[in-house]
Amino acid sequence: MSRIVYVNGSFLPEEEAKVSVFDRGFLFADGVYEVTTVLGGKLIDFDGHAARLERSLGELEMESPVSRAELLDIHRELVARNDLAEGLIYLQVTRGAADRDFAFPEGAMPTVVLFTQAVPVIDRPSALNGIKVISIPDLRWGRRDIKTVQLLYPSMGKMAAKKAGADDAWMVEDGFVTEGTSNNAWIVKDGKLITRHLGTEILHGITRAAVLRLAEEAQMTVEERPFTLAEARAADEAFVTSASAFVTPVVEIDGQPLGEGRPGPLARRLREIYIDDSRAKAI
Ligand code: PMP
Repeated sequence: MSRIVYVNGSFLPEEEAKVSVFDRGFLFADGVYEVTTVLGGKLIDFDGHAARLERSLGELEMESPVSRAELLDIHRELVARNDLAEGLIYLQVTRGAADRDFAFPEGAMPTVVLFTQAVPVIDRPSALNGIKVISIPDLRWGRRDIKTVQLLYPSMGKMAAKKAGADDAWMVEDGFVTEGTSNNAWIVKDGKLITRHLGTEILHGITRAAVLRLAEEAQMTVEERPFTLAEARAADEAFVTSASAFVTPVVEIDGQPLGEGRPGPLARRLREIYIDDSRAKAI
């Protein structure tokens, strides 16, 4: 079925939506993105994603091509035109089209693309059964806090996981877990939640921030600090957070079952709390 996608001010059937071969997103991965989840036809944490988009653009010296209010309107229009009840909205902003040159072009018009993906986000087998992860070295660049479209290494990590019969990879740098290929990594030990502190080494997950807040509201103890792979293997539970995965339990690391090899109680509870809170606050 053909979707309606948004490209630079127009809503078009996906077959008619085009960007230039000179687009710097295509030539240099010179662009940023966001993924916002739709539940019950409404957007989860739109403001968090819009704020991070503005920050990513600012770090790359790009002007925001649309205001936050316009962006919200585009998201809502896309949900309506595609009759999207549950799924994702992908948004990408690139520096635009210009003759190929490493230096940033002056006066290029940013390219703005948004499209929907109608995928289940609540009823996923991974939420029920948990996922298996492998560990790989973190070979990405040093500004992982900017949500750029240069996703080749995470993509390779996902393929390495698949080949190993697992679902995802946790990346490790200087002995510490940074994050998953497309999610933030958490472990639970003796009732305490542990997730890496913010910095340039990880993406500042919108779901991570929400789960931190909800965990504190539920009187759970949280530590924001680096943890090693050995700590993760010895943890009672582990899980990942992202806009599309919400809270998804991890049940195996590098072929070794974690804890009892089943989704843990804290991960299950946080997933429920997160979904309830998101439904209540979606706009
Ligand atoms: N880390 C990385 C590397 C990611 O790609 C993502 C998802 N895009 C996340 C963390 C989770 O971020 P969010 O909760 O905002 O989806």
